[in-house]
Amino acid sequence: MTPASTTVATPPTPFQGSRAVGDPMNEDDGLRAAGRSPKRYALKVRTCSNECPPVDPAPKKARPAAAIAASTLPMLEVEVTGSDDGREKAALTIHSTVPRGFAIVDDACEGKKIIATRDFTRGDLLYVASCALLDLSSYEQRYELKIYSEDVENQDAGRRRLLDARVNTETHSVDDGHPLPVAGDGSSRLRQVYGWDSFMNHSCNANAHFPPLRRTRTESHYRAIAIRDIAAGDEVTCDYALFDYSYDDQDIEICVCGSEKCRGKMFGFHALSLREKVDILHLCDPEVREKFLASESIRVFQSRLPDGIGIVTSGDGQEKYLVSTHGFEVGDVIFENRIERIMKDCDLPSECLLEVDGVYHLLSIEEHFIHRTDYVEMIGFDCFMQHSCSPNAHQVYSSRDNYVVYATKSICRGGVITCDYMALDNEAVGLESQVTITFKCNCGEKNCRGILRC
Ligand SMILES: [Zn+2]
Ligand SMILES: [Zn+2]
Repeated sequence: MTPASTTVATPPTPFQGSRAVGDPMNEDDGLRAAGRSPKRYALKVRTCSNECPPVDPAPKKARPAAAIAASTLPMLEVEVTGSDDGREKAALTIHSTVPRGFAIVDDACEGKKIIATRDFTRGDLLYVASCALLDLSSYEQRYELKIYSEDVENQDAGRRRLLDARVNTETHSVDDGHPLPVAGDGSSRLRQVYGWDSFMNHSCNANAHFPPLRRTRTESHYRAIAIRDIAAGDEVTCDYALFDYSYDDQDIEICVCGSEKCRGKMFGFHALSLREKVDILHLCDPEVREKFLASESIRVFQSRLPDGIGIVTSGDGQEKYLVSTHGFEVGDVIFENRIERIMKDCDLPSECLLEVDGVYHLLSIEEHFIHRTDYVEMIGFDCFMQHSCSPNAHQVYSSRDNYVVYATKSICRGGVITCDYMALDNEAVGLESQVTITFKCNCGEKNCRGILRC
């Protein structure tokens, strides 16, 4: 009996992968993406007693970025071994190499987790990876996962060192859920099988997200992007809600991610509050986002930020501000804008969504719209301009639906742009704004009027 060995969804020669660290696919791949983002399984719900020994994570010292050369090793290979005569069941082995810049550490309390071994900056490409799409029923619902690290001591490219080998079952993979291909009964039997990054833990305030790149019959490729700065030694985490609309069978009833923003549990995207959903919507798997937008009967407006303008959110997420990204002098046009009129006789919901350049915001009709007698004005990104009793900007209406915002003081780069909410009348057509909210002004100006009704 001679064992036959075939390789599925692998590079042509072992250890010479075509998709290595630092070899990001181009943006066109992303636009063509049809696959799903990674959905990672929790190896276990993280619980921790107070007597945890201190975590010893590894290299705290960051290596200079220039020293991090692209790895030549593939991150995921699928190996199938079986017998010619069919008397033995085929066996499946997943070989996965941890890319440079990361390590898997085994913490006595929390179990295995992934940490960064160098510093990353917000927006950095952390790595490009893929998961294998496999029908595990051909392999008795099990596979061996072998994790390697690149042998950096040995300068010969292509050397790697076995770190860990374990037999995983179907429960360590993720239901693909992709519409094609399907089994005879109409259901997909494909499972998403991940390599080294299947050890990534959930956090309600994750520091990485995973836009899909492209999907083939046997693989789904994705990027890992830093949501914020990640220092060497930090755990790299993902938010499972980004990938799972309903987190069937793998609920985390008590989340101990330790984040200040911990939601306490993880039952999938659908179980989040509307605000929580909207806050992460731009990071979600496209399928999760589409499902949300199709299922919620909420109106979505769209807007684009003009040059020189940005939106920033306060640390607690409660306030949003319009800021200048390059600075303006007195008399400068800050931006021009066009309103969208919504008649009051149609059913106005109390809340709606605004998508600004791919990021979603939850709006209140009363707070974020300008109310006229017969209609309300949707003013897009400009609804985040804050009030000041001594503002640095003033809007001038040129018609019923168009206005220009001028700087009335010089505004430095990064400065908050403000207007007077008591001066929102449209003088071009003689329309007053209606009072909808009362609030206590905290502008801090000498002439602050205190309680405002506007
Ligand atoms: Zn949490
Ligand atoms: Zn004030």
